[in-house]
Order: sequence, then C-alpha cells, then structure tokens
Amino acid sequence: MRRLLVLALGVLLWSAVALANPIVEGDWVRYETERFFIYLWKDTPPERLALGSPDPLQAKLDEIALSLETDLRNIEQVLQLPYSVQQYGKIAVFVYASLEDYQQKTRCYLCAAHVSALPNTPEVQALALTGRLNRYAIYAHLDNTPRGLGGLSIGLPQETIPHELTHILDLTLIGGSKPVTLREGLAVYVSSKSDAVPDDEQFGVTDQHLKLFVEAENPDLISYLTGCSSRRFIYNFGGSFINFFATRWGIERFLEFYQLLQGERLPLSLCSYGFSFEQLDRLFQQILYISLDEVRREYLGHLNATEITEDGQRSFDFVMDQIFNRVIALKHLLIEGNELERITREVWNTGRFNAEKAAYVTKYISDPRNYTVDAERVARTVQDSFQRVRSFASTYIDDPATRSHIELKLRELEQVAQQGRYEEFKDGFVDLIFQYMTWRRSPQP
Ligand SMILES: [Zn+2]
Repeated sequence: MRRLLVLALGVLLWSAVALANPIVEGDWVRYETERFFIYLWKDTPPERLALGSPDPLQAKLDEIALSLETDLRNIEQVLQLPYSVQQYGKIAVFVYASLEDYQQKTRCYLCAAHVSALPNTPEVQALALTGRLNRYAIYAHLDNTPRGLGGLSIGLPQETIPHELTHILDLTLIGGSKPVTLREGLAVYVSSKSDAVPDDEQFGVTDQHLKLFVEAENPDLISYLTGCSSRRFIYNFGGSFINFFATRWGIERFLEFYQLLQGERLPLSLCSYGFSFEQLDRLFQQILYISLDEVRREYLGHLNATEITEDGQRSFDFVMDQIFNRVIALKHLLIEGNELERITREVWNTGRFNAEKAAYVTKYISDPRNYTVDAERVARTVQDSFQRVRSFASTYIDDPATRSHIELKLRELEQVAQQGRYEEFKDGFVDLIFQYMTWRRSPQP
C-alpha cells in the first residue's frame, strides 16, 4: 500500500507525458515520453534550461515533451494520417544546446533543424534493434525557442519542429521517391496549418515573395515540380502550391496525387532522375480531370491576383539577400558579435518575419564599419565559416562558373588567414559574403 502511494506520488510529480526519469546515456540525457525519445546534449549549460524551476533540467524536458506531443497530434489532424508507435517506433529528437553547436556537430551548416538516420552510437543502435525507434530522427537545438524547441526559418510561415515532424510522417507513412519541392512544400504547408497564426496571412506573404520572384527572374515555377530546378524558393513554392491545391481541391486530393507520384529516369536534357511533365500531366488528369497546363494557369492566376504590400516587398528583399546566412557567416568576425546576435534573435524569436526589425539588421550588417577581426576567433572558426559559404554556393548558386570562382576566392582567403594576415582576410571575406550570399541572380565573376 505504501509502495503504491509512493508510486502514485511519483507519477503525480512527473509530467503527464513522461514515462521514465531522464537518464544519462553516452553524450546525451535521454527522456522517454508517449511517442518520443528526447535526447538532450548532456553538457547543456544551465542557463539554457528552464530557470526559475526547482528542477530546471526536468522542467525543460517536460516543456519539450509537451510541445512535441502537441505538434504531432496537430500534424496527424491536418493530414488525417495517424502515427502508430507500436507499428513504427517512437521518434527520437536530438537536441543540441545552441544553433552553433548543432551546426558544427552535425556538419549541417545551412540547417536550422533536419531529419536524418539515427546516429551510430552503441546506445541508440541497441535501442533501435528492439524496434522501439523510428529509423529517422530529428536533429534540433535550443536557440530561438518560442515553444520548447527552436529553429529559424527565414521568410517561411512556419516553425521548424512541426516541419521536421511532417517529414518523419511523410517518410514513414507515405515514403517513395518524391520531388524535393513537394516534400519540403508538404512540411511547410502542414507546419503552417498546425500553428496558431491564420493561414491566409502566412501564405499571403509567401505568395507575394513568389509573385515578385517571377517578376524579377521569370522562372517557370511549375517546372519546380519536376525536381530538376534551382533550389531557390523551392520551400516557398512547394508550400504555396500545396496551399493553393488544398484550398481549391482539398488536401485529400493532394495526398492522392502525391502518393501516386513516383520518381523516374528522364531524358538527360532535363535532369537524369526526376518527375516528367508527362507524368505530372497524367496524374492531374487522373485526379483533377484537368491538364498540367490548366493547373499552371490557375496557380499563376492566383499568384498574379496577389497584392504586393510594402511589408511584402521589404521581406522579399530581405530573403533575397539571405541575411540569415550572412549573419551566421560573418558573426565570428564582428567586434559586436553579441549585439548583432541579440538583434538577430529579436528578428526571429517569434519564429516569424518582421520587416521593421529585418530592415534594422540589414542596415547594421551592411555597414563595413561594424566589422573588425579578432585573430583568435578567426583562427578558431575560419574552417566553419568557409564550410558555410561552400554549402551555400553548392546549394543555391545555379551557375557552375560562379561556384568555381567562389571556390578559388575561398582558397586564396584560406591562405591569407593561415598566414595571419587578418585585416586582409577580413576585407576579402566580407566582400565575398556580400557579393555572393544572395538569392539574386548570380553576379558574373
Ligand atoms: Zn524540410
């Protein structure tokens, strides 16, 4: 009886969603909830935890657990796809102390959070063997945390954890080979539908960006569905297209289309592997009884009818300038790195875009007087900064000549840094970032 009472008290003290006390396992503190295994980096500094609570670690883990369970329920509802733990295992979420830690330790320099295979540590692999873990895991961090877990998403109407969770449901319950545009678009769409901000407002801004993008560069956005396009704006387009599709014909119809879509070998002129216009056309005819051309006309008509506001124009310029990546790449070289970080956090701390604040950051980081070098920091972080620029170039710069020009510049700058010529290094590096870390059509080298 007494044991029962102690047990009952213990259960009361734990959060409603936790199933066991946190335990240290390798580099991680592991915490099991109804449908998740939360792994928190074991050396997370105390100020990152839930201060003001009698047990800051426990309180932080509970906060994360609650937000994950809520997000998963919302996503299941939006997609009408239930996720069974018995069938697919619990979802592991690996949480680093900060964005910087996360990017360095996962070598994912342009990411705010991502989904990947489980890490290869003996403890995690042993648990995976019991069938209690999904084979995909989420990697995230504690920075910019409106609710439990954070992440940054420039110009996109969403939070990152619901985005990554959607990927897990997509990969587990739908699977198959899909265009990256729609895979990302689905995550953008669902995460926007499952949060508190009205969708019209969110997709309104995205649609403005896309309209301005089409006016500036005249791309055939629908060709993004073939999976063979530039990576610029694929998240925005994917989200906007699915939102349009769902509003017009229903999300069930979209999922029907998406399930049937399968990657195929293509003639090399387009790209070697992807989704042909013929396949897209066939599926639209089969599911919507209209052709690809009609879908294109309707979607572009919808974009054209979007009204451009001053805020929309400003936020478009902000996204095109890739301020986030510039800030991250330049941060190590700034005298007032802390000040800049504070401002940047303010911009993203609601997880949403604010044109006024963005304009301030843009102005601040565009002023060369704000840069100096701290030799020690540069020496320590130069490899990471270079890695970020390289990731950016290989992901977003379409023109191969510009990419190799950047690579040449980077090698020169590496030499300059190695020789300790920091002032020269700084000028060259800042120049390079400002000239090339942009989504605008690449300047000719
Ligand atoms: Zn994604």
